[in-house]
Amino acid sequence: MESSDFQAVIGLEVHAQLLTRSKIFCGCSTEFGAPANHHTCPVCLGLPGVLPVLNRQVVELAVRTGLALGCQVRPRSVWSRKNYFYPDLPKGYQITQFDLPLCEHGRLEFDVGGQMRLVRIRRIHMEEDAGKTVHDAAEGESWVDLNRAGVPLIEIVSEPDLASSEEAAEYLKALRDVLVCLGVNDGNLEEGSFRCDANVSVRHREATELGTRVELKNLNSFRFVRQAVDFEVARQVDVILGGGRVVQETRLYDSVKNETRPMRSKEEAHDYRYFPEPDLPPLTLDDAFVEQARKALPELPRARHARFVSQYGLPAADAKFLVADRALADYYEAAAAKAPDARKLASWMQGEFARLLKEQGGTVSNLKVAPAQLAALLSAVDRGEVSGSAAKEVLGEMFRTGEEPAALIARKGLAQVSDAGALEAAVDEVLAKNTGEAEKYRAGKKQILGFFVGQVMKALKGKGNPALINELVRKKLGG
Ligand code: ADP
Ligand code: MG
Ligand code: ZN
Repeated sequence: MESSDFQAVIGLEVHAQLLTRSKIFCGCSTEFGAPANHHTCPVCLGLPGVLPVLNRQVVELAVRTGLALGCQVRPRSVWSRKNYFYPDLPKGYQITQFDLPLCEHGRLEFDVGGQMRLVRIRRIHMEEDAGKTVHDAAEGESWVDLNRAGVPLIEIVSEPDLASSEEAAEYLKALRDVLVCLGVNDGNLEEGSFRCDANVSVRHREATELGTRVELKNLNSFRFVRQAVDFEVARQVDVILGGGRVVQETRLYDSVKNETRPMRSKEEAHDYRYFPEPDLPPLTLDDAFVEQARKALPELPRARHARFVSQYGLPAADAKFLVADRALADYYEAAAAKAPDARKLASWMQGEFARLLKEQGGTVSNLKVAPAQLAALLSAVDRGEVSGSAAKEVLGEMFRTGEEPAALIARKGLAQVSDAGALEAAVDEVLAKNTGEAEKYRAGKKQILGFFVGQVMKALKGKGNPALINELVRKKLGG
């Protein structure tokens, strides 16, 4: 046996914070960054004698996610208590879903190196987040902040269908894109609103059973997911080749040392003493509710990407850039409906437009330039009314003032000279001043064409239409 005889087997569990304004079972705010314990009440503090009340929006967002991922939505799902002790969990249990989750049997399609991959989604359930323990090493003290306790989460559990760290990272990116597109999650790995645990095992190519799995935690970037999985796969193969056995456990990824190390032995479901939550009735959904959510689903990133390529003739990279941000893609489509060339529009949006947008904070939501105005500017370029480089200047000014491109071009004197009479006069003048050079050109030194065009351009203060000037100079010099 050698290491190339082994295959990696990976299944991911993603916890995504739902974008609701209030918590799952109380009215406290979910706002991030408030002073510690500011957003708490008897319900999320777990005081005795109070009852949870389910936030309807949590169910809507979770159902939307399940449908987008091709899941079956259970008409009746059940809340459970998962019991464990930790200082950031004052109730001593987490309200979650266990044996009857909201959604099951879904799938996610994505690309890895140009190949389509499909990963099955085992289940999606709703649950509440715990609080946060903050360790102050310098003071030797620990603090508990319960602002996050009761914040709504969905957990999305994949089947162990992933075979490499790269696939795992691409699955996660595709999943994040879907959640962000649906408006259910902000997709922020660093701030922890999109968290991933990776279950990793290895097996011999000929083995029929899966190997013993290890659960990896603390993977708060796509790069860390890849590195942690790679480390862990190599470690497990080494253990087996060394004659040992992989132990089922939870390991923590240390991104500084780039290694995983044991955190705790893996708990089993029975360790948590799951039982049905007595304070909440089972959740029942009628067909109409689910069908309404299905009808309201937006076009998902993958489908939209394919449509951008076929409908607008965009290169895959351009489509990817636009589709990555739903509002940007909407903006593009609105502009494309009026622009002379959808492909040129896409490359403008990736270039100057994206640069200016970044300067202004990066979102099109409060942009002064309407899609139709961007299209009008590109039409002006297309008709030769303004040069490409002057149009960039115009666009910058449009970002600042929201003015119409035609008005701006006139006000700033940026109109391109395409008028045949004006161009011809300028060309004649340049040729008359440079008779020696003109002789050389006629004698065969064709490369000095650029010199004449440059001179004419200079005479017209850079506003001449370069294509027309080229043509005129050539004609006047006899080809
Ligand atoms: P738990 O809830 O205790 O974490 P589950 O059986 O629900 O356990 O599995 C959780 C995750 O582990 C799923 O994403 C699943 O795909 C993955 N998984 C299960 N078995 C394996 C295995 N042998 N190797 C890799 N991943 C696995
Ligand atoms: Mg787990
Ligand atoms: Zn509360």
